[in-house]
Amino acid sequence: MKKYAVRNIRLCTKDCLCLFVCPTGAADTENSIIDRTKCIGCGACAESCPSGAISMVPLAYPAQQVKDPAVITVLDRLSASKAVQEKMALQIAEQSPSDSLYRLMKAIAGSERLLEADLLREAGYMLPQSEEVHTLLKQLPEEYPGLPKEILKQLLDLLGR
Ligand code: SF4
Ligand code: SF4
Repeated sequence: MKKYAVRNIRLCTKDCLCLFVCPTGAADTENSIIDRTKCIGCGACAESCPSGAISMVPLAYPAQQVKDPAVITVLDRLSASKAVQEKMALQIAEQSPSDSLYRLMKAIAGSERLLEADLLREAGYMLPQSEEVHTLLKQLPEEYPGLPKEILKQLLDLLGR
């Protein structure tokens, strides 16, 4: 799988080892972002970086796994129940007579929200490569005419499957 290097500038301590080992000069840029057009994916920079600031990421991700409709149905049902539980926890939090109960209910609501998002992602709805996301992005300009159509088109092209 072809990969290229990405630098996390928050971790970078600027000791510049990557610049010396990079055979193409891709790591040596004004804005600290590794030049993808020059990067040949050799990984030398990532291996030399003492801060773990460079990661090698795939150029293209594998196609989304096709889910069994029965699995999607169960995931949908579970995520809907998590949404109800989140709402209930928030309602209890709002009426809570004590700070500790309030914080407990908020924590439960937050946890339900995370589970909900995970379940929906598993069902394929939130993966950028999914058909649902593509359909949604294509429909957005009709629903919200003010959105920049050209940017949406670029996003769709970048997310191309
Ligand atoms: S080797 Fe790592 S820490 Fe050093 S400049 Fe390169 S990315 Fe930054
Ligand atoms: S992976 Fe290789 S070519 Fe790409 S930036 Fe790192 S050292 Fe340079």
